Amino acid sequence: MVEFEQYVAKLEKCISKYIPPKDTWTPADEAVYKPRDFYRIPLKEAEEMQFKSIKYAFSHHYENNAFYHNFCKEHNMSPTDIKTLDDLEKIPLVPDKFFKDYPAGKDFATWVGNVYTGDLPKIVIKNRRPSYDDVINAFNKAGLAVTYSSGTGGRHTFIPRDQRTFYASEYAIAKSLISMIYPFWEHDSYGYELMPNPKKTNIYAGKVLEVYFDAIKDVSVAIDREVNTKLIQLTMGGGGIKGKIIRLFSKRASHKMIDDIIKWLEEREKAKDKITLVGAPFILLSVMNKLKKEGRSFDFGERGGVATGGGWKIQEHNRVPVADFRKQVKEVLGIPGKYCLDVYGMVEGNGWMVHCPEGHYLHIPYSYYKPMVLDEEFRQVDYGEWGRFAFLDAAAMSYPGFIVTGDQVRLLEHCPVCDRPGPVLEPEVKRVPGEEIRGCAEEMRSMLSSDLGK
Ligand SMILES: [Zn+2]
Repeated sequence: MVEFEQYVAKLEKCISKYIPPKDTWTPADEAVYKPRDFYRIPLKEAEEMQFKSIKYAFSHHYENNAFYHNFCKEHNMSPTDIKTLDDLEKIPLVPDKFFKDYPAGKDFATWVGNVYTGDLPKIVIKNRRPSYDDVINAFNKAGLAVTYSSGTGGRHTFIPRDQRTFYASEYAIAKSLISMIYPFWEHDSYGYELMPNPKKTNIYAGKVLEVYFDAIKDVSVAIDREVNTKLIQLTMGGGGIKGKIIRLFSKRASHKMIDDIIKWLEEREKAKDKITLVGAPFILLSVMNKLKKEGRSFDFGERGGVATGGGWKIQEHNRVPVADFRKQVKEVLGIPGKYCLDVYGMVEGNGWMVHCPEGHYLHIPYSYYKPMVLDEEFRQVDYGEWGRFAFLDAAAMSYPGFIVTGDQVRLLEHCPVCDRPGPVLEPEVKRVPGEEIRGCAEEMRSMLSSDLGK
């Protein structure tokens, strides 16, 4: 374990800007920044941190967020009702749909203010009728990190993070993945981000990967143009002729994107570099399809790693099961299954569930993030039963991170394959039947030409 300590210390040096000064740590920060490996904390210790951090976050939102305060009053709940670990389950949960139910124009800015916990920075909006992008950009210019994801219905899910919360999420995704893939990670390596450039988008799955540029020395980006809500709306079917022109452009651009990635793979193989590919699985699938068509393959072996996320949720019938995906990655890129991990996260949360290399079950950062599974009446079900995923997230300081999702999961008390403590989710997450399809990767796929990924 000494070697692991050095490994983590090296990582923390690279991503030190995401860690708040230790003398300012709250119980919530402690649960995020103190563990050396989120997935190997002895269960009792993790539960203690979980209790302290979530109780702290609950009190914080109860006291500093008028909308959540009233919501709790309606549910007859207050922080004094939280006395034991089991009491955490009584914390009132906000349905994820709430974050989609917002007005347009200047009222949107007010809505963001109502969701936000604490005092918002002063913002300047020049337009009389600002677009969503105008409002988000104004907030982000003032130091916030408002991000979004959306469904095919065109409604975005907007989440207002302050910088500290956003950093916590970025820190957590890097630390979660890199500790899970131990001892693979090295700063001296090359990466390809299969998402929009974090500097040119407010899509959560793109923006959160800013940390990738700190974790390794050289990162290329698949989608380097500005991606905003207007572009998404146009390419998701709206916008008439203008939308069609953008899609037409996207088709050419997407083919170039695939060719660029293949060129990069050729160069990295020639130089015997260590590589990682991180982002939307369908982009990598398009790359592999093209290589297969040309009868080509690479052999990166233990020098290659793949982390996918953002889901396959666009068309369940076209979905590639994660096990098949891994098989293709092995065949076409030569990267072993133990270094091909899927990540489950969402714009509403700051916890990252990551596949273990041994069994590809989704492990949970248990010290600050409590998973729950609910039935149709929103009652908790037992381990081993399918239901709706909900979570309590202590890392969310700028909005109440106590949320019911539309994702269908099964929680197991222990990983059936590896020896990490704490509960796990089944390797694949789907949507609850009848729930709108969504996910950041799906959004990307709609934006790029529709023949990609087939
Ligand atoms: Zn496992």
